[in-house]
Amino acid sequence: MRKKIIAGNWKMNTHLGDGMLLASDLIQIVKEEGHNGVNIVVCPPFLHIALMQNILKETASPIHLGAQNCYTQNFGAFTGEISPSMLSSFGVEYVIVGHSERREYFNESPPFIVQKIKALLENNITPIYCCGEKLEVREVSQHLSFVCNQITECLFGFSATEIEKIVIAYEPIWAIGTGKTASTEQAQEMHQEIRSHIAKKIGKNSADKISILYGGSLRIQNAAELFAQADIDGGLIGGASLKAREFIDITKKMKI
Ligand code: PEP
Repeated sequence: MRKKIIAGNWKMNTHLGDGMLLASDLIQIVKEEGHNGVNIVVCPPFLHIALMQNILKETASPIHLGAQNCYTQNFGAFTGEISPSMLSSFGVEYVIVGHSERREYFNESPPFIVQKIKALLENNITPIYCCGEKLEVREVSQHLSFVCNQITECLFGFSATEIEKIVIAYEPIWAIGTGKTASTEQAQEMHQEIRSHIAKKIGKNSADKISILYGGSLRIQNAAELFAQADIDGGLIGGASLKAREFIDITKKMKI
């Protein structure tokens, strides 16, 4: 069975006090109510990572630590950057790459994203590779080929063994932070297409092992229906991950 993963992307939210409060609420709820076999990942801003590592360790919490970004090199004169090996030394197990906000606001190109994925794999960190189309692409029915091309350009330079270690997040850009969610049919269609695209190029065995998460205004109201789809293995959650109760309730909608 594929790994079921629900990751919270806090983005550039929370100051020290409210970040730690959110973390301790999450830890407490998961301690009392369990995680039901779902891999719960929390990706706070970099500044919270050291404290989060400590509190997760002290409480022996099953919550996994993730980060929202990284650089392509492990050390060196790259002022302001954070490296995969540093993240690994702080217990980070997952890093989001290729998020549409980084592609759009920070001009991150596919070759740059590929370098990040390579560096992450070399540091035994799981990349969560985001892909997804803008509304205008969907309106002209180019969404399937557009997203498959994003898979080709950033993932197909890796070996089957490497690709199997990557988690994919399909995030239609028109659904991120807008309150509009892809319908279950739209989401399942895309997830199936991504999996069959990987199966054709890399092999069905590998494709069947890869967890593909849905992201884009995932909420408690739509989670159960989305998670019930054959090719949806979890979620990448922005806004709703900032409320401990709602985030954990969403993870409970995943039936293992
Ligand atoms: C995201 O940015 O990864 C995301 C899914 O955000 P939201 O849940 O707020 O749409």
